[in-house]
Amino acid sequence: MQANFIRQIAQKDSSEFQVNISAIALYKRFFKYVWQHKIQLILGSSTIFFLSFLQVIIPQITRYVIDVIIPERKIELIPWLGLGIAVITLLIGSLNFARSYMMSLVGQKTIFDIRNELYQHLQTLSLSFFENQRTGALMAMVTKDVDSLEKLITTDVAEIIAEIFTFIVIVTYLIYADLQLTLLILITLPVMVYLTQFFGKQMRGAYREVQKQGAEINSHLQETLSNIKLIKACANEGYEIDRFSEHNRQNMTANIRAVRLSSGFAPVIDFMNNLGFITVLSYGAWEVINARMTIGDLTAFFAYLNHLNQPAKRFSKVMHVIQKGATALERIFEILDTQPEVKEKPEAIALPPIQGNIHWQGVEFAYNSSQTVIHDFSLDMQPGMTVALVGSSGAGKSTIANLAARFYDPQQGRIVIDGLDICDVTLQSLRSQIGIVSQETLLLHGSVRENIAYGKPGVTDIDIESAARVANAHEFIISLPQSYDTVIGERGVKLSGGQRQRLAIARALIKNPQFLILDEATSALDTESEQLIQQALQQLLKNRTCLVIAHRLSTIQNSDLIVVLEQGRIQETGTHKELLAQGGRYADLYAMQFPQKLSLQVQSQLCFER
Ligand code: ADP
Repeated sequence: MQANFIRQIAQKDSSEFQVNISAIALYKRFFKYVWQHKIQLILGSSTIFFLSFLQVIIPQITRYVIDVIIPERKIELIPWLGLGIAVITLLIGSLNFARSYMMSLVGQKTIFDIRNELYQHLQTLSLSFFENQRTGALMAMVTKDVDSLEKLITTDVAEIIAEIFTFIVIVTYLIYADLQLTLLILITLPVMVYLTQFFGKQMRGAYREVQKQGAEINSHLQETLSNIKLIKACANEGYEIDRFSEHNRQNMTANIRAVRLSSGFAPVIDFMNNLGFITVLSYGAWEVINARMTIGDLTAFFAYLNHLNQPAKRFSKVMHVIQKGATALERIFEILDTQPEVKEKPEAIALPPIQGNIHWQGVEFAYNSSQTVIHDFSLDMQPGMTVALVGSSGAGKSTIANLAARFYDPQQGRIVIDGLDICDVTLQSLRSQIGIVSQETLLLHGSVRENIAYGKPGVTDIDIESAARVANAHEFIISLPQSYDTVIGERGVKLSGGQRQRLAIARALIKNPQFLILDEATSALDTESEQLIQQALQQLLKNRTCLVIAHRLSTIQNSDLIVVLEQGRIQETGTHKELLAQGGRYADLYAMQFPQKLSLQVQSQLCFER
């Protein structure tokens, strides 16, 4: 369901979202996060309030100088006025500091919360979600999108609040001073609101494109740099350079369009503001000539008009950030609203220590509705039993392993461990008791010790070493430059395939899982490595219930049960001997891998029968 949902989202034209999710709804939701830091927010906003008042006082001083001090020659007041202006300016400076510090606190704390919540949520999402998303795009969201929100709060929300306060305070004073002139100035306001909305809509579309292209660049970088070996092996550097350049060009075009829109908006607003200036100049001059207004009043009016123009001018900048923020919020909330496909039931219980009875009942599974991959899979695994899954590539072996660890849920049937449906237990209690050794040995950037301990955080060094010994890894680890403390690179690049596998086995051993899933390596290993790994695997398989995905039939002949899977259906089951004697699919596969052995075996059987 979730996979479908994501696919639908991907198919949706971005403009549809514009209609569906209004910026106001997005900001309302965002405000809930901001409000969690209400103390700092209120403190920050109140400094803005005082700043707005202080800004109104200075033009009044100018008016007083022109209308009273100069005509009445009150020279003795001038030093006091100078002192007053100095105090006010210092106060403005201190309040500005308090404002930016408080708003930064709100901004930093809010993005801290959102980024954490986003990462936490990503960790709860199922594998299918990540299969349908590009890692680079997700990374761009957790870093760039969240950062743009920080800027929004720290500088822009503060500015918006300041502008609104200043606007209200000044307009109130102007109405009190001269109602007619104020109305004339404000006549352009509805036009400005309309223009703002018009440009806003355009800008939002432009910023959505900017973000999309930014994410494309990130995805391209992430995918190509992490697969650099493949690119070099195919000598595709030129091709990748061209592809990158194309993404880069599209990103530039999107940015230029956004800048064109936001820069185009500023002159339009400027022109509207100049209309206000012309009005005050003409009408004000008329009023002064007719002695209905003093020169001081007119000067103060000009100063206030300038203050009014500031909010209007900055409006274009603020619009830009608001639209940019809305597109970031849209994407962030979209992820936060995605539900994991594999859900833990609210009443889920912790799975008690696994005894090892794994029962599959008529399991049917499809990754997408169009194609069922597993058909009516039933199997009973007894404690301590090793079951090998064999079959052609694409038969569904890895899918069975994925279902056992509940990376996906079957559409029909159930998987029962020691009498408990795995859908009824908590994911943590289930997965912490299952050991998985996959073909692709995943090593994290960190020391050898950390990599082994990752299977069970908090284990002692003695446990780590003994696991490494059983996994035949101790010898090579101590020959590394810093022994167990050697850092083994982002993907364990400094180790050979065989060494990486032995580390993966040590990691599984340290967990001491009662249920083990082993996806046997297909990669060719040198004979020595192979032998060491086989020995390690034998240790790993001991006394546990094991599901082995076998690619090389040589390793599974001692399995308690071999299940032959073809096109998602069980074709035959039995022990190695039984299946060979049966002469079915397993015997065919075996003949393909070991033509000589089989002919010897058949000959000896024939001799015996004779
Ligand atoms: P095997 O392990 O036997 O090679 P898999 O279990 O990997 O086979 O695959 C079984 C079928 O499921 C194949 O047809 C494969 O293409 C498909 N498949 C595997 N993984 C996915 C996935 N994540 N999404 C969609 N289809 C998948």
